[in-house]
Amino acid sequence: MASYKIVPLVKQEFLESLVDVEDLYQNAPCGYFSFLPDGTVIKLNRTLLRWLGYAEEEILNRKKFSDLISKGGIIYYEMFYLALLKMQGYVNEVNYEIRKKDGTTFPALINSSTLKDPSGELLAINATVVDITDRKKYETELLTSARLAEAEKKRFEFVTDLIPQIIWTATADGRIDYLNLRAYKYFNIEKSAISDFDVLQYIHPDDHRKAMSAWAKSLKSTADFQVQVRLKNAAGEYEWHLVRALPYYDDQGNLAKWYGSCTNIHQNILELQRKDEFIQIASHELKTPITSLKAYNQLQMRTESIETMKGFAQKSATTLNNLQFLISSLLDFSKISLGKLSLDVEKTLLSGIANHVAELLAVSYPSHKIISEIPEEDTFVMCDPHRITQVLINLLNNAIKYSPKADKVCLRLKKIAGNCLRIEVEDFGIGIPKEKLERIFDKYYRVIETKDNNRASGLGLGLYIIQNIVTKHGSRIYAESELGKGSLFYFDLPIEPSN
Ligand code: ADP
Repeated sequence: MASYKIVPLVKQEFLESLVDVEDLYQNAPCGYFSFLPDGTVIKLNRTLLRWLGYAEEEILNRKKFSDLISKGGIIYYEMFYLALLKMQGYVNEVNYEIRKKDGTTFPALINSSTLKDPSGELLAINATVVDITDRKKYETELLTSARLAEAEKKRFEFVTDLIPQIIWTATADGRIDYLNLRAYKYFNIEKSAISDFDVLQYIHPDDHRKAMSAWAKSLKSTADFQVQVRLKNAAGEYEWHLVRALPYYDDQGNLAKWYGSCTNIHQNILELQRKDEFIQIASHELKTPITSLKAYNQLQMRTESIETMKGFAQKSATTLNNLQFLISSLLDFSKISLGKLSLDVEKTLLSGIANHVAELLAVSYPSHKIISEIPEEDTFVMCDPHRITQVLINLLNNAIKYSPKADKVCLRLKKIAGNCLRIEVEDFGIGIPKEKLERIFDKYYRVIETKDNNRASGLGLGLYIIQNIVTKHGSRIYAESELGKGSLFYFDLPIEPSN
């Protein structure tokens, strides 16, 4: 161990200087101590003594600085601290774990400076000890809070990225400062562009006023913000959204932030528009036969001729059939919407049904020859005979309705591979454009626009109902068509053994 020579006179002066501020020194709110270059503690105040839990005589000239610090501290002390002290004469704000008599520790900040004799030889070191237990606790709490806040933020972002809506937050003055992933994709913007994100650029110009006045209203009344606007998507098309936001107030009651969402309601709005249009068409379609029936009735009452009367009666019967068809379509549609379309399945001779339908339609539509190609042998399938009859009538009705210039339609039953029976209805009429073919089974869908005066009457529900019935039978209906040449509709049912 290195030994240091203390010049007696200097040591005396030094000890005297320590006595000057004795009281302040002893009871200061921080610890003071002095130690020799070899670490031997030669003086310490009462505050530090109290913190350490030693009696004065247990420590003075008996303990070294290294006895009072943790193991890590000793290494630091020996390798850097002492060298630094000798070099620059002081070392400040060094963080040490101070070891008490009972073995426990507390964190402290130590400032130290050297006392040297005129020749520059190190005599002793004076040090102050500040207990930073509270500061450490706050630091730890702060760190924990920061970590918690970060974890909360991550959780918020994780959840907002999961949900099928656009989620955003905005500053009190309405500047968007957070968007979830869905939003970045919808608006096709980079995350880095959030600071320049101007929401008005994405709202349909016709909806600007509506959005701004809803915003102003909720700012004034501190109410929730809610408005339906069209937002431009990545493809540059506008889609209807329900935009909602809740104001968030801080502890002082000041508006601090807006938390908001945009729900895509485009399909719902289109559906509502289609429904409105459908109600208009349905009312018109129902009114037309009723007006005709009234007219036939009046004409019947006015005529004396039995022949003319019979003619009007025949026309009334056809009109009533159409009316009945319309009303049952509406009822079926409502059953499907409520999930209440059910089947009464039984083993059925399908050729029987096909022959019956062909005869029925031949009477109703003398304009078209119904060519039926039905195998002679008995072919049974499991089906609801009434519903399959309805499907065939509907398909043949359409085939005739959409081939005004043709004079025939075909109804075919044929066995196909996989022990199935294929049911086909073919016409040679107006056909369906390729790009519209996949939509014809949608509800309300009609290839020829409603506003076209030359369109055939109908509700755009027939194929939707047929598709539902066929699907309920575990099968699928297909359509093939060529514009101006005609269409083919078909579906398969598994053949049942005849015994
Ligand atoms: P509706 O006949 O009452 O309009 P449907 O659901 O039966 O309704 O048919 C939907 C649309 O599909 C029709 O409006 C028509 O444009 C087209 N369509 C259906 N069957 C045929 C067909 N055989 N030939 C040409 N177009 C057809």
